[in-house]
Amino acid sequence: MSILVYAESWEGKFKKSTFEAASYANQLAKDLNTDTIAVSLGNIDESELLKLGEYGVSKIFSYSNITKSDNKNSSIVLANHAKESKAIIFSNTFSAKMIAPRLSAKLKAGLLSNVISKILNSNNFTFQRQAFSSKAIETVTVNTEKVIITVSPNAFEVKTNPTNCEITTNDENFENQFSIIGSETNSGKISLSEAEIVISAGRGLKGPENWGMIEELAELLNAATACSKPVSDIGWRPHSEHVGQTGKAVAPNLYVAVGISGAIQHLAGVNSSKVMVAINTDPEAAFFKAADYGVIGDAFDVVPKLIEEIKKIKN
Ligand SMILES: Cc1cc2nc3c(=O)[nH]c(=O)nc-3n(C[C@H](O)[C@H](O)[C@H](O)COP(=O)(O)OP(=O)(O)OC[C@H]3O[C@@H](n4cnc5c(N)ncnc54)[C@H](O)[C@@H]3O)c2cc1C
Repeated sequence: MSILVYAESWEGKFKKSTFEAASYANQLAKDLNTDTIAVSLGNIDESELLKLGEYGVSKIFSYSNITKSDNKNSSIVLANHAKESKAIIFSNTFSAKMIAPRLSAKLKAGLLSNVISKILNSNNFTFQRQAFSSKAIETVTVNTEKVIITVSPNAFEVKTNPTNCEITTNDENFENQFSIIGSETNSGKISLSEAEIVISAGRGLKGPENWGMIEELAELLNAATACSKPVSDIGWRPHSEHVGQTGKAVAPNLYVAVGISGAIQHLAGVNSSKVMVAINTDPEAAFFKAADYGVIGDAFDVVPKLIEEIKKIKN
């Protein structure tokens, strides 16, 4: 009865969140005295797959002809491999939100999302999870034979445990309910949900004409741009950039909030970020209580200076 981890990839590569999930799965496997196996979907080369071995995965089942947007076949394949597993671990990504509930129904296994603790009692499946937009922590015991867990990004460190890793590749073509005939990403921009760095701005920027410096800073740092809700409501920025309770939830390594007050509804979607930086003229702004670093200052002074310094370092 192994621990199965869904090794999610983006354009053929694994990200830190996948290695976090693998490290978490490996810790759970140690606690339950078993081993860690993984399922990977999409065309991933062997050297990339072998990176999972660094985090304690001993067997990988790679399905080159399933895309992760194919939720039906993804859940069928995962369910097959989960037959001999006690727990199935995901990172709490968009993809996990689509696949994990299907898997839960197929396996009749309890699903815990946004988990932030190790197993608290190895005789039963008791864990802590974030609830109510991360404003509360819930302790839950799952009473089913298997448990499905989505791990909150940045809640656990990646932990290496080099292990001999065996790869089984499956090139089977799966019957699909739909076909992707093309996809377009926003002209060369980094996707918000996948970005490691996010530069976000709010009403403090006064108008859409002032976003040039935000875009420049984002480009320099290879970051995605985001905004607060009122900014997208007024039409200064597209709705796809709105983050928060009613927008996208993001968990990058670095979230920079420029001219954003830090309302709870905004923080609900960003407070899983590893490091948060706030730039605000108001020393009483709520964001400073949540941020790891704060700059009390005018965005129109601070951001251009930041750009200048980053350019110097880059040169
Ligand atoms: C049900 C509900 C759901 C919501 N969902 C969301 C959500 O998902 N996401 C979200 O963002 N909001 C959401 N909101 C709105 C939220 O409550 C806040 O109103 C909103 O986040 C405020 O946006 P803001 O910080 O950009 O603007 P403001 O509150 O106007 O803050 C602007 C900030 O900029 C600072 N500032 C001004 N000038 C400068 C300058 N020159 N340089 C630096 N700083 C400056 C000010 O000091 C201030 O702190 C929701 C509200 C409700 C009721």
